This record gives sequence, structure tokens and C-alpha cells, in this order.
Amino acid sequence: MAKTQEFRPNSKLTTALKSEEFKKFIELRQIIGREEYQIIPRIKNDEATIIVEDALKKLKLLLSRARNSLMIWDNNSKVKFKLWYGSTKEESKQIILNRINASIQIANTYTVDNFRAVTPGELPAGSYAGAIPNYPNIIILAEPYGTAGTSGKNSRAGILAHEISHFNAVGITQKDPNSPADDLCDKDCNELEFAKEEPSKALYNSNNYEFFIESFDTSK
Ligand SMILES: [Zn+2]
Repeated sequence: MAKTQEFRPNSKLTTALKSEEFKKFIELRQIIGREEYQIIPRIKNDEATIIVEDALKKLKLLLSRARNSLMIWDNNSKVKFKLWYGSTKEESKQIILNRINASIQIANTYTVDNFRAVTPGELPAGSYAGAIPNYPNIIILAEPYGTAGTSGKNSRAGILAHEISHFNAVGITQKDPNSPADDLCDKDCNELEFAKEEPSKALYNSNNYEFFIESFDTSK
């Protein structure tokens, strides 16, 4: 789950994502441990479609910049990497480069049809989104997702990077492989401190990945 940075309940976009049309578009009911799903496909709400399509476009841009940075591996790249991953070890870089490459592959297959809306209460309060590690074709969006920004920390694109990182197919970032996607450093945990103190765990924390990817956003 991505943590909520802020919540603006009166946002126009929140209203769009709350609308009956959007809810009807797609619905997923997850019964934890039993993996039962009810999926009604195809988005109808234009505004919600634009939100996710723009976020996907931005995600692909940020992932390709991050990939280039790790390929170039100059001083700037190392400073950025060390901030979120606590070291500049070759094997650490390779883990994240592999994750980025796998994330790009998934992002390239994604369209609006890969998103499912949940009704309030199906994800913990304040969550933007969720992912189930064994289901790389689905990202679940909660209603506050529409209130996330288009750039900066916890941006819509960054939240997608976070959720994609939970998939088994990209090297999985979570505590318990049998539970829905989970975060190693959550709630009261500070990701910058986590990188310094637990660099080997930070490599598998979804928020460290999200914030690293978001650091390639130059439109702040
Ligand atoms: Zn998460």
C-alpha cells in the first residue's frame, strides 16, 4: 500500500473517482487469503481514464530516466542512489536496475484496463493503491488516488512505481509473500533513515523504490 501524504476530499478528481460510473467500470473484491475476485472490466469515466493514462506516461518517463542514470553511473547517479539505498555497491545497483527493467516491461503492457477501483474500506484508510504480488496485471486504486499530485513525492506516477515493485515479476518488495502486498518500512518508519540503517532491507522496500524513481521528476 502507498501511504497517504495528504488528503483533499473536495478535489474534483476525487469526485470523478468516486462516481458511480467509475465504480461500475471495474470492481474488485478481494477476500484475503482466498483470492476471490469479481472483475467487471472497462473504464467509462473519461476523467478517471485521463488520470491513469497520464500517470502511466509519466511513470514510463521516470523509469527510463532512472534506468539511464544507473547505466551512466556518474557521480550524480551515485549520490541519488546512495540517498535512497544507503550504498553504491555494484550488486545493489544491479538489483534496482533489474527491478527498473522489469517495471518498464510491465508498464509498457499497461492500459487503463489494468486498473481496478475499490470502494472505501477495502484498503486501509488513507491508502492510495494496492497490489497483489501474484497478479501483475492488476493495480487496485483507492479513492484518494485521485487526490495525489502529478509530480513530487507520492505522485500518481510514483504510486504506480511503488505498486509495480510489489509484483513477484519485478523482484517483490514486501514482508510476507503470502499476504497482499506489504511494505518493509511503513507508518512511523523514515525511508531516508531506513536506507542508512538497513541498506540491504531498503533494497526491498517499495517506498525507497518509489522515492528513488520520483527523484527523477524534474517538473517539481
Ligand atoms: Zn505498498
